[in-house]
Amino acid sequence: MLIGIDWGGTKIEGVALTPEGKQIARLRAETPRHDYEGCLRTIANLVARMEAEAGRQGTIGVGIPGSLEPRSRLGKGASSTWLLGRPVEADLRRALGREVRVENDADCLAASEAVDGAGAGYNVVFAVILGSGAGAGIAVGGRAHHGPNNSAGEWGHNPLPLPDITEIPGATCYCGKHGCLETWVSGRAFQADYARHAPPDIGADTMTAAAVIDRVRSGDRLAGLVWGRYVDRVARGLSLVVNALDPDIFVMGGGMSNVTELYDHLPPVLARYTFSTVFETPIVPAAHGDSSGVRGAAWLWRDG
Ligand SMILES: [Zn+2]
Repeated sequence: MLIGIDWGGTKIEGVALTPEGKQIARLRAETPRHDYEGCLRTIANLVARMEAEAGRQGTIGVGIPGSLEPRSRLGKGASSTWLLGRPVEADLRRALGREVRVENDADCLAASEAVDGAGAGYNVVFAVILGSGAGAGIAVGGRAHHGPNNSAGEWGHNPLPLPDITEIPGATCYCGKHGCLETWVSGRAFQADYARHAPPDIGADTMTAAAVIDRVRSGDRLAGLVWGRYVDRVARGLSLVVNALDPDIFVMGGGMSNVTELYDHLPPVLARYTFSTVFETPIVPAAHGDSSGVRGAAWLWRDG
């Protein structure tokens, strides 16, 4: 049995799979925010409950919203900043009493979709998460690609390409740089862009990104403008990827990937920004939807 844990900023989710990928158990809990030890306890509790339900022990893979330094194995680049500088693998090993494999959550998404999802049959899969943050993972031949700095897929911390005068210098990112793509193309950034321009009496500050999308669909002019600008920014961001890597497919995950209009609106805009005069790359939603990250975490032990 393979257990996957998706340690997200708002929820921690666990799934137990058979080696063939059939789901045995699935649980989720709220993330104890800013409470690292509390997160470890929550993960141990989810694992214990899934193993009790399944009546057996499993291997454990964990996806985190960040990555590990290649040498020190300390947490880095995590939007959930309480992971930064923590010996995540060692602490999980202590909390769970066994070896644990840890991987960036977007890499988990990329591997999951490459193995048995929307990217199956494609050699180079570029998976994008447009959720509360923005990240990416690259799978080559069904395996996550990392690179010598364990930094592959840190797409969200490139600056927004071709900024106009209103987009400079951009917001400060938690990483310390300005104008990172993450600050433009996350679901949170989309919602915040709407809230910044909306009349003060409609409560836009507390609206979800999904509520703003409802407004786009109902013909709200401001929401429509903000959506168009959002698509343009995603397109500019992905044009870099096409020019540098030209992946065989883009697989989209995270809350904003559920907006079906994205798949009609994005390709023609992206085609305008790429160096290549043809743009035929499929852009598709993750086949396993919200489960992709957690399945990919379980797959970290696919070969035993
Ligand atoms: Zn950044």
